[in-house]
Amino acid sequence: MSVIQLYDTTLRDGCQSEDVSFTLEDKLRIAERLDAFGVHYIEGGWPGSNPRDAGFFERVRHLNLRHARVAAFGSTRRHGITCEADHNLGMLLRAETPVVTIVGRTWDLPVERDLRIALAANLEVIADSVAYLRRHVDEVIFDAEHFFDGYRSSPDFALACLRAAAEAGATLICLCDTRGGSIPDWVATATRAARAAVSVPLGIHCHNDAELAVANSIAAVQAGAVQVQGTINGFGERCGNANLCSVIANLQLKLGLSCVPPEALATLQAVAHCVDELANREPDKRQPYVGISAFAHKGGLHVAAVQRMREIYEHIEPGLVGNRQRVLLSDLSGRSNIVYKAREFGVDLDSHDPAVRRLLHELKELESRGYQFEGAEASFELLMQRALHGHERRFRLIGFRVIDEKRAEHEAPLTEATIMLEGPDGEVEHTAATGNGPVHALDRALRKALTKFFPEIEEVSLLDFKVRVLGTEGGTGAVVRVLIESGDSRDRWGTVGVSHNLIEASWQALVDALDYKLYKDGKAADESACTPARAGEGP
Ligand SMILES: [Zn+2]
Repeated sequence: MSVIQLYDTTLRDGCQSEDVSFTLEDKLRIAERLDAFGVHYIEGGWPGSNPRDAGFFERVRHLNLRHARVAAFGSTRRHGITCEADHNLGMLLRAETPVVTIVGRTWDLPVERDLRIALAANLEVIADSVAYLRRHVDEVIFDAEHFFDGYRSSPDFALACLRAAAEAGATLICLCDTRGGSIPDWVATATRAARAAVSVPLGIHCHNDAELAVANSIAAVQAGAVQVQGTINGFGERCGNANLCSVIANLQLKLGLSCVPPEALATLQAVAHCVDELANREPDKRQPYVGISAFAHKGGLHVAAVQRMREIYEHIEPGLVGNRQRVLLSDLSGRSNIVYKAREFGVDLDSHDPAVRRLLHELKELESRGYQFEGAEASFELLMQRALHGHERRFRLIGFRVIDEKRAEHEAPLTEATIMLEGPDGEVEHTAATGNGPVHALDRALRKALTKFFPEIEEVSLLDFKVRVLGTEGGTGAVVRVLIESGDSRDRWGTVGVSHNLIEASWQALVDALDYKLYKDGKAADESACTPARAGEGP
């Protein structure tokens, strides 16, 4: 199986995105993750451009990467000076990476009108810079900037630039669609011409301005390129770079080429989400292959069909890229959705069971009020257990009060919450707590009260809290939906609350979160009690 090299530039080109910025620590973590994933090259940054990138190259040497080679990025020497005198080339060598990538012009028009140098002088700049770097570095990649535009404008000059780099010792020439405006057919034609012109291996680097970066990368590979440059999730300036997640999945699952081992491919979604998380970005639900909607089914008919034969509405088996099939609980839910969902929670339902009809009715009613259980599956499981088995919460609220006080313009407000609830044995607990806001105070008071009856509540931590205003009308009187994500050492779970009152909505989600902890621990205890100890196994 032929191997296609992956050259990741999330840490360099990806950082050109207007809303992406990584700290040095983030960059190191991403480098480790990409290495474990099986990326062949990691472009760490432009050492001449900022101190953070220089710091990265300093630190990355101590990371002990097992697989990936680190590349430093820069440009060819300036016209009119020697390579030795060029500050940028000097900084590139100081990064001490095994690979250096330099970008140079290959489109005649900008050379003449922007650089304002003769075309022959541009060829010299390329040849000199590549030859100089090759004397110091194992691998020198030449990024042929604007190659596809250059090839359409003046094929002779564009190819002459590639030859200059090849003859000077470039170990790979990467053809760049710098403006991102090419279409796959142009890319394939120009890549074939480049192959005929030089014997050095070729790479492809595409931008996504015409939303064709992935398609163009695939076209170049089919025309003979052996390396794809891109970024995780397609981060990059303007409309972004080629999204490596899609490139890898397409090359590997559709064309049968090899980029990473199959077991690494199964972590693709985790890698994509990890990079989003470090960029402090909500993962794109609709991202092909790795988005959580990529294999989600909503319409009742589709759900019934995928249960019989998943291939009807799924182009690959989702597990191959670490994703999974989801059935959405929505107002389109049919009975088969409920049955499917229940099975996910280990409950076998018959779609003709009257309880299913009851649950569906309740679900539709809640959804019409703004509840949404995608992302709040713990709330759904509790709802299902109530409808089917009469599950009851193990504590009862008698009342709560939240007081917010702000004494002066420049002072932070103080919040205090008091709560009264009845425990499982009828004992009443009355507790107060302060917090840095109403939800925080309420959460602390509730935990304090419940820990008395259920010490395991202490293991729960609140991981995420999201508020969404529903609808466009109503201003500050609008309905809000609160989603809370909680976790303990074993699991994570999401719960939901909806109300006109933010504190009430938060309260509902908080109560479900803690109730779910008690329910799931109870379930686990029941399961282990039902499993008889096997004789002969010790200790
Ligand atoms: Zn680029």
